[in-house]
Amino acid sequence: MNTEKYLVRPDKPIRISDLDPNDSSEFEGKKKAGQAALKELNKEIEELQELLYAEGKKRLLVVLQAMDTGGKDGTIRAVFEGVNPQGVRVASFKVPTWLELAHDYLWRIHSQTPRKGEIVIFNRSHYEDVLAVRVLNLMPEEVWSKRYQHIREFERLLVDEGTVVLKFYLNIDLEEQARRFLARLEEPSKNWKFNPGDLDDRALWGDYMLAYEDLLNKTSTEWAPWYVIPSNKKWYRNLLIATIVRDTLVGMKMQYPAPPADLEQYYQRVLEMVQSYEEKEPEEE
Ligand code: AMP
Ligand code: MG
Repeated sequence: MNTEKYLVRPDKPIRISDLDPNDSSEFEGKKKAGQAALKELNKEIEELQELLYAEGKKRLLVVLQAMDTGGKDGTIRAVFEGVNPQGVRVASFKVPTWLELAHDYLWRIHSQTPRKGEIVIFNRSHYEDVLAVRVLNLMPEEVWSKRYQHIREFERLLVDEGTVVLKFYLNIDLEEQARRFLARLEEPSKNWKFNPGDLDDRALWGDYMLAYEDLLNKTSTEWAPWYVIPSNKKWYRNLLIATIVRDTLVGMKMQYPAPPADLEQYYQRVLEMVQSYEEKEPEEE
């Protein structure tokens, strides 16, 4: 699968309007095959995460950004299905609390980054500080315009210290968002997800796209790249992200820790323990 074409290259600015949210490339018309491939990827990711945890040296940070209904929650569920919850954590960033606002905007972010052996998924992130903050005029331009550089350097720090950083923008269009709002209103089990305030953000769609375009072009770096994921088709979105996560984990070249030096000696001792129980057990009729 060619995932490279979804990468935002630092030297080649993109325009969101040039990218097709309906794209499913070589899987066009092959939804069933795509879903089957995802199942295989789930198993691989599960095993690789086990290895990451066992090795306990490296860290993976996955950043998810999207407009409302863009599929951040669904992606987390589908891509990390079956993974041992002990080594994976989701951090969701909402409107900052007074305590968070009393610090610099990266304070709450840095405290949630992964520890060694851990995968952390950011459901929204520090990018809200150049998105919502910019579009809703929560701070003057003089303040938010400096943040692209802070963010590039903050992510550089994370990477230099051994964290791998992947960033995904889930690209849906206005039509798909309208359909997903309708689904939230029509299905009783989804009603809770409908937030009337989301319609206000929808009304600012154009402004959000400009802000997204700007951040994608300014903060996709060699050390922490952005991918724009066509996301109107949920199954293709899941397949693409799972593929990139799998490939990234493979590229991290983890190894199981070396066993104790005198493994054979312990093996003999423990084998004898087990055999001693077997000797005591009465013969089965
Ligand atoms: P949701 O994730 O849909 O439950 O909504 C969370 C809301 O919090 C979104 O509307 C975000 O734009 C908003 N939000 C997250 N981070 C920030 C931030 N740093 N400043 C302002 N709003 C934010
Ligand atoms: Mg919202």
